[in-house]
Amino acid sequence: MRIERVTLHVVRLPLKFPYVTSGSTETHEAHVLARVESDGLVGWGESIAPERPWYSGETTSTVLLALEEFLLPALFAADLAGPEDTAMRFSHVRDHRMAKATFEMAVWDLFAKRAGLPLAALLGGTRERILCGVAIGLKPTLGELVATIERELLAGYRRVKVKIRPGEDLTVARAIRAHFPALDFMVDANSAYTLADLELFRAIDETRPMMIEQPLAHDDLVDHATLQDALRTPLCLDESIHTADDARKAIQLRAGRIVNIKPGRVGGHAEAKRVHDVCAAAGVPVWCGGMLEMGIGRAHNVHLASLPNFSLPGDVAASARYFETELIGEPFVVLADGTMRVPSGPGIGVTVLEDVIRQVALDSREHRPG
Ligand code: MG
Repeated sequence: MRIERVTLHVVRLPLKFPYVTSGSTETHEAHVLARVESDGLVGWGESIAPERPWYSGETTSTVLLALEEFLLPALFAADLAGPEDTAMRFSHVRDHRMAKATFEMAVWDLFAKRAGLPLAALLGGTRERILCGVAIGLKPTLGELVATIERELLAGYRRVKVKIRPGEDLTVARAIRAHFPALDFMVDANSAYTLADLELFRAIDETRPMMIEQPLAHDDLVDHATLQDALRTPLCLDESIHTADDARKAIQLRAGRIVNIKPGRVGGHAEAKRVHDVCAAAGVPVWCGGMLEMGIGRAHNVHLASLPNFSLPGDVAASARYFETELIGEPFVVLADGTMRVPSGPGIGVTVLEDVIRQVALDSREHRPG
């Protein structure tokens, strides 16, 4: 398959409410959308990089730069035998995984459309519905946090994840456990702590969360292993896992017992599948994380989360929770039983509203080979 035309859109949408984590307060999301065309078919990808480098070194601007300067020439030069071929074409570029994933996932959409199959089928998905959880940012008061959790439970979510940061951690975990004695909740620190906080985590352990996500440095496995050894609660790794090899090493070191997979973080679907498989072989469950995706990125996550080892509810919530503006014709909704349907049409299986994208895009750039 040869790629004949690529359009890159930079779309910046206001969030319905500020999203506060240990590293950042987001009021808008600005993502790069890639429209990739071949032989009359169109595939779509969405970068997960936020505007500021609080999660990793990548941002909306670095993604656009890497796509145009380094990845686009390689994509146009390739005759792709299959979607797995794409990542290899980008192997001369180190890191920039969020940029790579933007094209890689668009190419998966294209191949699935050419085969007339839903993306989930091409990826090896086995579920018609995925398990949904919701991620809640830090709130100004514990009362507001509890009220937000109550609302989300009524909306059907089965698992609640809350962000923590130094000073807003143990009080948060204790308040949740006190108000919701049987709730499956977890906390996500986004790398805000060190091993000096071991006693704090022992106290959080007592509140029986399902897991503690990425408590320590974004590039660490060794200290996570020390912390895991001291706790009953499983640690879940997010920022630390960039490749299937990272997952293998994390499992070998016992740095965590659960992995959060974001295809955008690991360079796309092919590597995400490999992380999934490494974890499955070791009996380590995975779930699909989120980065406040708009419709296209959300659709990709839903298809990926249909793979068998995604046995824990992910952060794949309804689109309308975050944005007023919908970029797809069939917004994702969470059903009463806390699941979400995997679209059954070809590719990502949703109608991309190109008119809306063109209207709201800050920038749209078209590229052709040569
Ligand atoms: Mg996380």
